[in-house]
This record gives sequence, C-alpha cells and structure tokens, in this order.
Amino acid sequence: MAAPQHVRAAPLARALRATATATATASVPVPVPVPAGIKSQGTSRRALLGLSEPQLRQLAIDLGQQSYRGKQLHDLLYKSRAKQIQEFNHVPKAFREALLGAGWSVGRSPVHHAVTASDGTTKILLKLEDNRLIETVGIPVDDDNKGSSRLTACVSSQVGCPLRCSFCATGKGGFARNLQPHEIVEQVLAIEETFKHRVTNVVFMGMGEPMMNLKSVLEAHQCFNKELKIGQRMMTISTVGVPNTIKMLASHKLQSTLAVSLHAPNQKLRETIVPSAKSYPLGALMDDCKSYFLETGRRVSFEYTLLAGINDEKEHAEELAELLRMCGGGYHVNLIPYNPIEGSEYKRPYRKVVQAFVDALEARKITVSVRRTRGLDANAACGQLRNEFQKNPLLEIEPSPSTERTLVAA
Ligand code: SAH
Repeated sequence: MAAPQHVRAAPLARALRATATATATASVPVPVPVPAGIKSQGTSRRALLGLSEPQLRQLAIDLGQQSYRGKQLHDLLYKSRAKQIQEFNHVPKAFREALLGAGWSVGRSPVHHAVTASDGTTKILLKLEDNRLIETVGIPVDDDNKGSSRLTACVSSQVGCPLRCSFCATGKGGFARNLQPHEIVEQVLAIEETFKHRVTNVVFMGMGEPMMNLKSVLEAHQCFNKELKIGQRMMTISTVGVPNTIKMLASHKLQSTLAVSLHAPNQKLRETIVPSAKSYPLGALMDDCKSYFLETGRRVSFEYTLLAGINDEKEHAEELAELLRMCGGGYHVNLIPYNPIEGSEYKRPYRKVVQAFVDALEARKITVSVRRTRGLDANAACGQLRNEFQKNPLLEIEPSPSTERTLVAA
C-alpha cells in the first residue's frame, strides 16, 4: 500500500501571491499605442492573436486605416493563420509597418519539440517569447459509430503550477507565470497545424490552474468560441478549487463544463493529497459547485484520481456518493486511474479495484466514467505535463536551435 507522500504544503494565499508577483515581473512593460477597448497585456509587444473582429477593426482605424483592414487582419489570423506580420501580403506595406512600429506581433511561438505516443496523442512544446516552454496536447478520437473524428486540445493556462497537488508532475516543477490569452489560443492553432484537422474540443487541463488566471482563460475561451467556432459545450475548465473563483465563473453563465478535481470524499484525506485544500474547505467547495449548477444549468464534473491504497476503497466510493447526494443533482464523476510520474510513490490501482469503485458509485445512482488513459508513452497523459527540457520553469533557458521543430514519433 502506497503511503501518502509528504508534500510541502503551499497554502493558497501564498500561491496566489506568487501568481500575482510572477505575472507582474514576467516582463518589462513598454508603452505602445493600444486601441480603445484593448487592455494592456503587460508585455513589451502586443499580440494580435486573440483579438476579435471589432477589436481588429478598431485597431485598423486607430492606425489610420479603414475599418475593413481590420477584417483582413481577422482573416489573416484565423483563416490564413499567418504567423508573422511580414506575411500579411493582403494589406498595404504602410499598415504592416505601422503595426510593427506600434509594437504589434501576431503572437505565435515556434514549436520547440513534439512527441507522438503510439495511440496518436501528441504532446507539443511551444517556446514562448521569454524562452519558457509550455506543453499542449492533442488527443485524437475516432468515433467509428458516427464516422466522425474528434480532436481534443488539452491546453495549459500557466507556465508550471503553484498548487503542488501531490500526484501531479506539473506542480513539482514550480511556477513561473500566468499565460497571456494569445499564448493559450496559439496552443489550439499549433495542434490544428500538427494534426491538419480542426480542434473540436478544448479542455483546460494542461499545465497550471486555470482559475488563478481566469481573465486570460476567459478571453481565450471567447476566442475559441467566436473566432475558431468551437462550441461552448465542447469546452471544459478544470480546477482543483480556488476560493471565490467558481462564483465568478458562474456569473459568466458559460455553457461549458466545470470540472472540479476532488480526489477525496472528505476534507482530511483531501488535504493530504491536495495541499491547497487547506484554504478551501470541502463544504465550501461543494456549496460553490451546487451554486454553479443552479446558476448555469450545467452539471459539474468531479475528477477523482484513483491512487492505490489511498483513496480507492469501497468506503471512499460510498462516502463520495454521500457527499454528492448532499450537494444536490447535476454532477458526474470522472475517475482517472493514476498515471505514474517520476519521483512519486503513488501506484495505479488494479483494474478490478477501479471497477469495484465504479460499481459502488453506480449502485448509489451516481453517473460515472473512467477516463481512458491517453498518451502515456509520450508522458502526455493527465498530470504528466512536465517537460524534460525545462523541469524547472523558473529557470531561463537558452534557445537551442538544434532541437527546434523536431517531431519524434514513438
Ligand atoms: N489544475 C487543474 C487542471 C490541471 S490537472 C486541476 O487540478 O483540475 C488536470 C487533471 O489531471 C486534474 O483532475 C488532475 O488532478 C489530474 N491529474 C494530475 N496528475 C495526475 C496523475 N499523475 N494521474 C492522473 N491524473 C492526474
């Protein structure tokens, strides 16, 4: 039986302070003209990616062009997928120069490395402007019955993660900064280009805690929906729980799924697995989930990573069923058998233990699914997103041209 790992508790308040500081110091802002309605993103350069058509039209007007030039920018970004302003051949040279002169860029990052697992799941490393690396994963699913195929993008919202869940590789690597909206949007574009297929689903389940970067996550969500035409119902925002943010998200009344990473049916056990749970009692978290369902009509999905001998016993399933019953209707349980990570002693439960857990929940009328593990051999499965190139995202790395754009097929 694996013992719970001793993890250094990172109370949420400290993690939130770290997020704010890292974001504020991530780059040195240099003033550049920003059109009305576009807020500063805190970098020396402004990214066009992520902007809507009205915002791009306004930008064109502000730079002395006619409004339809903004529509052209929109097509260049989201249809032609131009990667640099220098490629904007359809717009006058003077406009291109005005954009560059005002500090604008497209906001695309080079693919540093990509790895494809035997099941087709592909992990892509993008190298950001400040040389930090983030991971994004494309998960293809062929739906033979319908003759259609889905492509899910699992996107990161932060470089690293401040929350240090005991079984997750991302948290072990530390935290560097929040991602800006365009850095989230470009992950989907990179996946579409790699797969030559449109992304049909987006899950905010990559590196980081989306609720600690909610503003950028919401802007990226809007861009996915409006500009890339990904249905709101095809998107999921996953959180381990950050106080006050679920209410904030509910007020936006999105038609997307909220996934809450629960991992334990009681506060005591949850604190040993998820250190940040100390700052957000389970009762308060469940109340917020109930309010989310009442406000949006969208059922909440509870993620539960099954750790052998820790939280996978029949009694845990029964306690979980009781917890959910008290929280009212409108929920679903998604069990994730633990994916092994380096430096962790947790073990994945045997299949029959997982099935017994499922049976115990179903006997209590709880709808439950078991997540099929994808991308294990490329270290791209849930919780494994911590790249070999940059184990500590707080360290600056030198660009290495030799590894740029290599595609390693497993
Ligand atoms: N911070 C967010 C999103 C990132 S993690 C959250 O916690 O929800 C996405 C999901 O993968 C979470 O449910 C997380 O608990 C799960 N996960 C992390 N590490 C895992 C591992 N090693 N094995 C299985 N699931 C894991």
